[in-house]
Amino acid sequence: MTSNTPVSDQLFDRARSLMPGGVNSPVRAFGSVGGNPKFMVSAKGAYLTDADGQEYVDLVCSWGPALLGHAHPAVLDAVHAAVDRGLSFGASTPDEANLAEIVKDRVSAVERLRMVSTGTEATMTAVRLARGFTGRNLIIKFAGCYHGHLDGLLAAAGSGVATLALPGSAGVTEATAAETLVLPYNDLDAVEAAFAAHGKNIAAVITEAAPANMGVVTPGEGFNAGLSRITTEHGALLILDEVLTGFRTGYAGYWGLTGRQEGWAPDLLTFGKVIGGGMPTAALGGRADVMDFLAPVGPVYQAGTLSGNPVAMAAGVATLSNATPEVYAYVDARSLELSAALSTALDAEGVDHSIQRAGNLFSVAFGTSAKGVHNYDDAQGQESFRYAPFFHSMLDSGVYLPPSVFEAWFLSAAHDDAAMNRIIEALPAAAKAAASA
Ligand code: PMP
Repeated sequence: MTSNTPVSDQLFDRARSLMPGGVNSPVRAFGSVGGNPKFMVSAKGAYLTDADGQEYVDLVCSWGPALLGHAHPAVLDAVHAAVDRGLSFGASTPDEANLAEIVKDRVSAVERLRMVSTGTEATMTAVRLARGFTGRNLIIKFAGCYHGHLDGLLAAAGSGVATLALPGSAGVTEATAAETLVLPYNDLDAVEAAFAAHGKNIAAVITEAAPANMGVVTPGEGFNAGLSRITTEHGALLILDEVLTGFRTGYAGYWGLTGRQEGWAPDLLTFGKVIGGGMPTAALGGRADVMDFLAPVGPVYQAGTLSGNPVAMAAGVATLSNATPEVYAYVDARSLELSAALSTALDAEGVDHSIQRAGNLFSVAFGTSAKGVHNYDDAQGQESFRYAPFFHSMLDSGVYLPPSVFEAWFLSAAHDDAAMNRIIEALPAAAKAAASA
């Protein structure tokens, strides 16, 4: 039983007196599932160890970065070697171009890349760049998509904003909110209508390549391609946010799985998470003519003291170098195996649900089998009260799930038979708990 973790409880009490909610990122607080969060002290492969010495199979994987598994030896070696050379120079270093070249080779829509430190910075810069390039103000985003905590994109955002059931965020001015048009996901007619009404003022459409912050939602057939067509017709840009999906759902991200074959390309893409292999690195990239609007070449300013940090670059290069096509095939197969076992366990207890999938990312949505989940309204309409007992049953069996039903489940190349068996053996009891909620 992992519910009895007194050291974590003490650490949480201390943290609460020092930090808002005791955390530095809201979903970590277990707000929607209840109970005290576990404090982690180490991670290796598919496992996390908490401050009480309890071990969990990890299905969060640092919210995405740990694609290879935690503390992969090649990544640790590269990081140790970089640390030995110094932590930060405030000047250019060779690995920045090495990482940029790897990204460019894998994602042909990237002609130029700029490194930043977080996904939020990447999308914030992409939005500013789109405005600077087009000379227009309005941005379209979709309800339930999360792009980080920049003011203009917090309206109807997913992730922690959805988990806390907030409409947006206090502190965002009306003037800023008025520059974002929020549309229902998977609805191209709504996009056409917005462009018919405001086309001359729309700088960009930003969308998650496949939404994974309202739970996972599959982009409908032709949806992303339609966004590309409509933005191109109206002289606006398409920003494809691959912070979560990039280098996780496939060798060239979600666009590489879908859009590249369909024959369209986004104007800008944003990356985070896997690109830094667990270190704080993110990036934006895309068309050279647009990217060259960034300073020092162009008039759109962006900068960062720790951008392209040498330790983070070393982690990114080592992670992507080891993220081979075989790694993706392995994670894809494990993802199918786990989602099938999850469905079987829930069916056995008569728990109505749908599995929402985008490549190897998936999530469960309770009480949605009749209609599926195609947008934020569908996601919010589910029987989310079934998740807390399900989550705690899994936690008690030594499986660490995302502490919110609105998040994806993350697997890694280190999820071997032993790790998978532990998860699969825990599912029947958790399904029973969900059924009796
Ligand atoms: N975009 C997407 C699609 C994300 O999932 C996230 C984070 N989960 C972000 C942007 C923001 O990234 P960060 O938390 O690194 O600021």
